[in-house]
Amino acid sequence: MSVTSTKNKDLDIHSKVEQLVRKLTLEEKFLLLSNHNEQSAFSSTPIGRLGIPSLEMTDGPLGVSWHSSNRRGTRFPATICLSATWDRNLSQLMGEAIGREAREAGKRLLLAPGVNIHRTPLNGRTFEYMSEDPYLTKEIAIPYVRGVQKQGVGACLKHFAANNQETNRRTSSSEIDERTLHEIYLRPFKEIVQEAEPWSIMGSYNKINGKYVYENTHLLRRVLMKEWGFDGFVLTDWDATEYMHDAAICIKSGLSLEMPRPHCYRLELLRASFEKGEFTESMLDDVVGRFLRIFFLTGILTPKENSDDKRGDSTQHPSLARRIAEEGLVLLKNDRMLLPLRLQKTRRIALLGPNLDVKFGRPQYGGSSAVVPPYEITPLQGIRERSEGNIDLVNDASNADIAVIFAGLNHDKGKDSESEDRESFDLPQDQAELIKKTAQDNADTIVILISGSPIGMEDWLREVPTVLEAWYPGMEGGRAIANVLFGDVNPSGKLPITFPRRLRDSPAHSGKGNRTYPGDENLKVHYEEGINVGYRFFDTMSIEPNFPFGFGMSYTSFEYQKLRVDKKRIKSMKDHLVVSIDITNSGPVNGSEVIQVYASQNQSEVQRPLRELVGFEKIMLRPRQTSSLSVTVQAKDLAYYDDEKHRWRLAAGEVELHVGSSSRCDFLSETIVCYED
Ligand code: BGC
Repeated sequence: MSVTSTKNKDLDIHSKVEQLVRKLTLEEKFLLLSNHNEQSAFSSTPIGRLGIPSLEMTDGPLGVSWHSSNRRGTRFPATICLSATWDRNLSQLMGEAIGREAREAGKRLLLAPGVNIHRTPLNGRTFEYMSEDPYLTKEIAIPYVRGVQKQGVGACLKHFAANNQETNRRTSSSEIDERTLHEIYLRPFKEIVQEAEPWSIMGSYNKINGKYVYENTHLLRRVLMKEWGFDGFVLTDWDATEYMHDAAICIKSGLSLEMPRPHCYRLELLRASFEKGEFTESMLDDVVGRFLRIFFLTGILTPKENSDDKRGDSTQHPSLARRIAEEGLVLLKNDRMLLPLRLQKTRRIALLGPNLDVKFGRPQYGGSSAVVPPYEITPLQGIRERSEGNIDLVNDASNADIAVIFAGLNHDKGKDSESEDRESFDLPQDQAELIKKTAQDNADTIVILISGSPIGMEDWLREVPTVLEAWYPGMEGGRAIANVLFGDVNPSGKLPITFPRRLRDSPAHSGKGNRTYPGDENLKVHYEEGINVGYRFFDTMSIEPNFPFGFGMSYTSFEYQKLRVDKKRIKSMKDHLVVSIDITNSGPVNGSEVIQVYASQNQSEVQRPLRELVGFEKIMLRPRQTSSLSVTVQAKDLAYYDDEKHRWRLAAGEVELHVGSSSRCDFLSETIVCYED
């Protein structure tokens, strides 16, 4: 669609919204601000007189959730696995598929994706979020949002903002300096709003610097709506406003929809506040109008546009779920090239561990993201199916060619689950014991982790030759794992989060006492590490992690050569440059590699992290194939947030661009110069 026709469409929607708002009575406007339907926690109030139906919503981001739709749906891998694919196209396809299923379920708003930054590995929702890095987060989330909305279903970015832990999530205050807030925690929201135009944003439970977002006129009105140009609507997280009673402040801040029931927007509070003149009808019209926009964008008020034709075929969704799992699995360690398993030599495999035959797709399991699929292939089923009766599957490691242990977490409270953070960074003691004992019984022991967050491995890592991170791989996960084990698929996933050695090495846990996590006696969580989150912290502090951000092994090898940069000077924030390299698959099998570009600007007068991700591309190569690959680097991704001028800026000086296969492995580098913008 051309720019003019998009603009015309926007104008058209704008005037339709205005007309509709004009027809509403004051009382109807009040009714639209919350859900007055006690039957459903996922619907807005309909206005029958004007033919405005309720907006039906469903949770995401792993698929259409059970509790909000009463329906089985494709259970995709956890979003952290999607990020580990570093594949924008797969993300777009996953968004399209979930959008399609949401529509089939009669839902027009998907409460996803979640784009909060991974600050602590203990966050119970790490599996639902994308990365510790704002650049990777936005690059994966933008196509996801576009995919969902292509289906006529609104995406909802959540949870705005700085909702980085589950412990005390409704009462704690994230204490963050201005630069860190913008440069790390707000950045994905800003970029996604500007690039993908999501139709809604969900606020968070926590406060930021002492204020709930719903009363934060600066953050919502000024930053989100005015500076970033967000013209969608803001809704609350579920019952997030239960401690608030001021209707006027919420309207002034720009809150359009309070879910799943009224608190600030109780009718009697609204009426009284309006009568006292605490807010005007035009302020009210703005929040109502923002909300009504989605009724036109989705087409639910215009039956012709609302037809379900050509929305595509959902029978392919399970194979898409498998592909995402296959591309997102990360091979962390593979001594003696134990993987892939050699079929001729492998007669007997011992299969062990608590996650060998577990199905994760159960109602509410893990919290609001729970999807119940029509079926779920466990690792045991996947391996049985793939070995076709030619391999004995046993449970005695001492009498097997190979032992494979399915360890990790699950979605029980305190493991990887909403509303409570993880109780421990390490594996439960019995699992660590099982790994150590098995490794003694059989030197060829493979550990496969099913988990949505990094796990401490100090206790057992050196004792096993091979470790594979499988995340929560979705309804086809068992097949994806078997395909990687037997070499039908060559792993190419890369970590979207650092795997620390010890919890105290990671930024939120390096401070003394509870100040930095989970918060002091006043429930203030002090983000003392500032902009040094994730690998920015490990690199800047020279702490060796177990596995760095961006890391992941392959069954083949790659050679990087001939770095070229098409431009040596960056003069404006609107600029971009193209980094190209020749890359060769120098190993024995087909394989995909993610080429990562990091920027270091350590000479400028502004303090910068040692390196920051600014570009990546993924490429598949056959053995001995060489290809030239280009990665675009946007000048705005080289910028920092100036907290004196309150805006993003380029810092003058040299910038080194490092090209490599992880945040800690650069093969080639080149220097460019940035001019102040
Ligand atoms: C979660 C949201 C979710 C909502 C509705 C809340 O507890 O934080 O992510 O969309 O519930 O289920």
